[in-house]
Amino acid sequence: MQAVNRKWYIAYRWVTLVVASLFLVLGIIAWTVPELLPIASFKDVSYFSGGLAILTIVYAIFGYDRVAAKRSHLESMLILAMVQATLTLSLVQTTGKMQSIFLIWWGIMSFMAPIFGIYGSGGTAFVSVIYFILMSTNTEGHTDYTVQNLAILGSVLIATGIGHLFWKRFFVDSETEKVALLSGELKANQKQSEILVQALTDGVLLVSPDGTITLMNPAAARMTGWEVSEGTGADSRLVVSFKKEDGSDLEKEENPLEHIINKGVGETATLQLVHRSSSWLIVSVVTSPLVNPKTQENIGGVIVIRDISATHQSDKQRAEFISTASHEMRTPVAAIEGYLQLALNEKVSKIDPKARDYLTKALESTHHLGQLFQDLLTSAKAEDGRLVSHPEVVEMGEYIENLSESFKFSAEKKGLLTNFVFGKSSTDAEHVIRPLYYVNVDPDRLREVVTNLFDNAVKYTPSGKITLGLTGNNDVIQIFVKDTGPGIAAEDIPHLFQKFYRVDNSATRTIGGTGLGLFICKKIIELYNGRIWAESEVGKGSTFYINLPRLTNQQADTLRLQGSQQAPAPISSLTTPV
Ligand code: ADP
Repeated sequence: MQAVNRKWYIAYRWVTLVVASLFLVLGIIAWTVPELLPIASFKDVSYFSGGLAILTIVYAIFGYDRVAAKRSHLESMLILAMVQATLTLSLVQTTGKMQSIFLIWWGIMSFMAPIFGIYGSGGTAFVSVIYFILMSTNTEGHTDYTVQNLAILGSVLIATGIGHLFWKRFFVDSETEKVALLSGELKANQKQSEILVQALTDGVLLVSPDGTITLMNPAAARMTGWEVSEGTGADSRLVVSFKKEDGSDLEKEENPLEHIINKGVGETATLQLVHRSSSWLIVSVVTSPLVNPKTQENIGGVIVIRDISATHQSDKQRAEFISTASHEMRTPVAAIEGYLQLALNEKVSKIDPKARDYLTKALESTHHLGQLFQDLLTSAKAEDGRLVSHPEVVEMGEYIENLSESFKFSAEKKGLLTNFVFGKSSTDAEHVIRPLYYVNVDPDRLREVVTNLFDNAVKYTPSGKITLGLTGNNDVIQIFVKDTGPGIAAEDIPHLFQKFYRVDNSATRTIGGTGLGLFICKKIIELYNGRIWAESEVGKGSTFYINLPRLTNQQADTLRLQGSQQAPAPISSLTTPV
């Protein structure tokens, strides 16, 4: 249906209200003090018309908005117009019919009716013609079209026609009105978002694909030391200066700004944000790419910076406390362990079998406690970057083979079979000339990791086989430890490398552990820009993989000569298993 702009409906509503109120007042005078009325026919205003006037007033005041909210202004207006039209016709009918003065109001109404589009014009014209025919028909059923009646009908129809032409100018189709409404809402939402971004205590920046800042909130200005007006339009790499958490310089390929600008890749990182005045904050940075949903084209990114200096400081203090405490406690625990061993040594002391049994249990628990302190110390050091590492060139084939020899014993003690695999399967080893897999790692640290994985495999596998394997490609070497144990549920796998995470199920509950082993493994492997992860299926066993960047023979030679202790740069292919 065609419709005019909403403001006209609102105007129509108030005009109708005022006129219906006037009619009511007229009715009241007619019923109470008719002699005051200047026109005689006004005295005939009926109670029915009065009732309709009240209905019109009540609807215009109380009903209109409710119907408009539930349905639409157009429909609510239509109801009001129909009540009002009935009121007008009843007034015309009781106050002289075709001579009634209220025909003037009917004419005005006919002019207004096209406000509802063609239905309004057509409906009014139809009612006018019917009323005219009825009024021109006498009681015997003969029609008598008087000139006056024809003139009135003609005027009313002309008023409708003119009204139609007049209102047509203001017609808006409902889609346009919806769009207008929607854009109003969008503007309001935009305003709200702006208020929100301005009020955030996190720094928020929007960057275009070329790295220019298009939006910067006051918090970002405060953190960077750049005014919002200065920063907006400037290159984000100039305004937002990051360093590594420990204050060392960030390589270009490590900078989250470069990733979001050049590759459209978002990430989360903990970094140092350098203020314009050279002071700095420890911040958590989250970058997210912005993509045009239609074209899938990169249209920039959002950078959210949170000041975590305070929590970072308390984390550091906590880690320091844990490392000092565990370091201090290791000494007395080692002494207890030593004395217990002495007590159990038949050559040194004599004890009865019951006491021996108790002391053996005490020794086991003390050993566990010592291990826990050792793990706590290592993990605290790993967290604040104090883990000592002396990387050197290590040839993995020989290294893993030696390790596997020493592992055999612990596995066989539990009745488990062991297997050392070179290449994808054991048969490969026989047919392929073994390449030299050089990596730059601290052999002691890597031994900790592989031993941990192997010990876990032994610990969690009641029976079956444990395979220690080595494989690789041009970029990566891969070590894997595979067991035939209970396996790990898919929901536990993402948490395995978190601190203190232990899988709680009937197969593992009775087995002692701290939940720190894998956390430490991850920290060590990350030290060498490697990657560690697990794949497993419940009931079928687990495989833990380590990928490390492979050195070419030439790189290995150069490093050996230099005695370099630097870990090689990260290699993207580390994320894909070989
Ligand atoms: P823990 O000291 O508990 O062994 P880890 O960090 O080494 O701590 O391992 C974390 C958890 O991962 C273990 O509690 C265990 O539930 C699970 N897990 C590790 N290795 C295996 C494995 N080979 N098979 C089954 N579950 C394992």
